[in-house]
Amino acid sequence: TVEVHDVHKWYGTHRVLDGVDLRVRPGEVTVILGPSGSGKSTLLRVINHLEKPEIGHVSINGELIGVRRQGERLKELSERAILTQRSRIGFVFQNFNLFPHLTVLDNVAAAPVATGKLGKPEAQELARELLGRVGLADRTGAYPRQLSGGQQQRVAIARALALRPGVILFDEPTSALDPELVGEVLAVIKDLASSGTTLVIVTHEIGFAREIADRVVFIDGGRIVEQGPPSEVLDKPRHERTRDFLSKVL
Ligand code: ATP
Ligand code: MG
Repeated sequence: TVEVHDVHKWYGTHRVLDGVDLRVRPGEVTVILGPSGSGKSTLLRVINHLEKPEIGHVSINGELIGVRRQGERLKELSERAILTQRSRIGFVFQNFNLFPHLTVLDNVAAAPVATGKLGKPEAQELARELLGRVGLADRTGAYPRQLSGGQQQRVAIARALALRPGVILFDEPTSALDPELVGEVLAVIKDLASSGTTLVIVTHEIGFAREIADRVVFIDGGRIVEQGPPSEVLDKPRHERTRDFLSKVL
């Protein structure tokens, strides 16, 4: 279970997250929607402690992320401890962020080796298996620049899976892709969802959200405006701001 508890984040005087509470249960798919600048990416980055909230905290399966309690206060963990925690949270970025100098196979195998979880042969075997799962068994020796955007994003998903994360966060995984490549990436994410992986996905693909989400969260101005099953939030939104947003993206 991922729990975001009363998170506030600001840059200078600019309030970006304004008291966000969110709970994602194991195996659940949560889709986050909201206008540009509403704080969606910041929320994902707070979950894996790439950003530190000014107030509030995040826990995963009861374990605080990035901090520990010291009396009344929260104290930052060591860089090393944070990296260990982060390795249990998959993150898939809009722009793939693959290592350009590594082959597809090594992009996927690198993290389990670097974190000491697997030896190189075992990591490469796992990488082959995961690349097969995302439909790239025949491209293991290629370099990222030799792949289409859709293929690169599928490598990024395999890479996220390689650390067997408890949850995978996706930040607009298809928005950098040519329209004809969107479907192959969404199909892979759908496959993960149906196999029970816990997912938090920021996307503007409303049709996809309707198909895949257990819960849709609409965020505006750093606050959750409404949340619920797609049949409520997407089909019968209760708030004017949600209706207004949906009328623009649909
Ligand atoms: P988009 O849909 O465009 O990706 P978003 O909902 O993901 O938007 P965020 O990227 O979370 O929005 O940004 C929320 C607000 O915080 C924006 O106004 C942005 O300009 C501001 N912001 C984000 N990162 C920083 C930063 N490092 N320093 C200062 N301001 C920031
Ligand atoms: Mg964003």
